Amino acid sequence: METSKQNNKEETEPQAAPQAKNQVEKSEAAEAVVSQLDLRFRDEIAGQPGGENIRRCFACGTCAAGCPVTEVDSEYNCRRIIRQILLGMRDEVLSSPLIWFCLVCYRCYVRCPQKVNFTDIMRVLRYLAVKEKRVSPEVFEQITKLDRFSQVIRHDLVKGFFENKDVSLEELESHVSGAMKEALVK
Ligand code: SF4
Ligand code: SF4
Repeated sequence: METSKQNNKEETEPQAAPQAKNQVEKSEAAEAVVSQLDLRFRDEIAGQPGGENIRRCFACGTCAAGCPVTEVDSEYNCRRIIRQILLGMRDEVLSSPLIWFCLVCYRCYVRCPQKVNFTDIMRVLRYLAVKEKRVSPEVFEQITKLDRFSQVIRHDLVKGFFENKDVSLEELESHVSGAMKEALVK
């Protein structure tokens, strides 16, 4: 009987060790993550024009629900980005390509019940990202050109609608998306 008990004990002990190791590893990972947080980040943003109300955010998600970028890419979420700022995830926010996805349309600001001006907060994030060279000058230049290009396209199309020009947006979309795929493969 004793031998059987000993065997059972031996069988269970090696399982306990990896569990304890996992716990230690998880706790070390959590400490490492906490040590990377910059709790002054929210004050830094709040100190910039437009960032004043960021601490008022109560995470209702109204901003994300009306964002045209979130509509096409659920990875982009202004509510989440504000949470990250408030938590102090400075490196993660400033190095993320997501901060360049915003259309600067102010819909989130207009809808926010707490008057958090996320659009201007986004401008501050971009300013800091450029200043700290978290985006290469080449990529920044390309994004600037793209913004200009898309404005010209929009302007010309809207003008065309009023002048009764026959424009098929479906055909245009298919043509542009085909050309983009080709360009991105190169
Ligand atoms: S709508 Fe305003 S309060 Fe609600 S999550 Fe967005 S920023 Fe925060
Ligand atoms: S300003 Fe940016 S984050 Fe706000 S609704 Fe427009 S695209 Fe979305």
